[in-house]
Amino acid sequence: MALDLVLLGPPGSGKGTQAARLTETYRIPAIATGDILRAQVDAGTPLGQRLRSYLDRGELVPDQLVVDIIRHRLSEADTEAGFILDGFPRTVPQAQALDAMLSDLQRPLDAVLYLQTDRQSLLDRLGQRHRQDDRADIADHRIDVFLEQTAPLIGYYRDEGKLRLIDGAQPPDAVAAAIDDVIRPLVGAGEAPKTRPTAS
Ligand code: AMP
Repeated sequence: MALDLVLLGPPGSGKGTQAARLTETYRIPAIATGDILRAQVDAGTPLGQRLRSYLDRGELVPDQLVVDIIRHRLSEADTEAGFILDGFPRTVPQAQALDAMLSDLQRPLDAVLYLQTDRQSLLDRLGQRHRQDDRADIADHRIDVFLEQTAPLIGYYRDEGKLRLIDGAQPPDAVAAAIDDVIRPLVGAGEAPKTRPTAS
């Protein structure tokens, strides 16, 4: 039974840290659109140059571009046992595209983990990193972009019954424990059909 997860949260909420841990524990790949896009920028391709202008300003790149990246990535064999999406989806159209993709594959999302954190904790954490787009003014703008364009996904996934709230302001180990509490029953539920008595 595959474990298909989305990590949702503002920049600096600890998605990357938790995604890495989940990969260790459940042996499923973490797919971070930010990393994939930065690799394109670093490669200096014409596409990378176009992307750089969005990333440097803390703006979202066009939906179609990231949707195509994810569609391609989810077709790779290592996602068979599951995946953790980190930084995707970030808009309602991206979430709709993901739902359509997963519905074609007959593997709906198991859960969307929303790492809830206050703005000051986010800015403090981003201030400790050294990415170009973590500069104070851009980091601040990225939080606004999250609130405007990505926060509507909280309601979207709540309506789908997929949303799980996690207190992301806690230390990383406590966040990890809270995530495990959410996932354990999901993994258990995945095993349930094997033991469920069948009608004869
Ligand atoms: P992240 O590493 O997730 O903070 O992403 C860094 C930057 O990559 C963002 O500020 C956006 O410019 C871009 N990006 C990453 N994921 C997405 C996405 N799903 N949709 C649009 N832009 C994205």
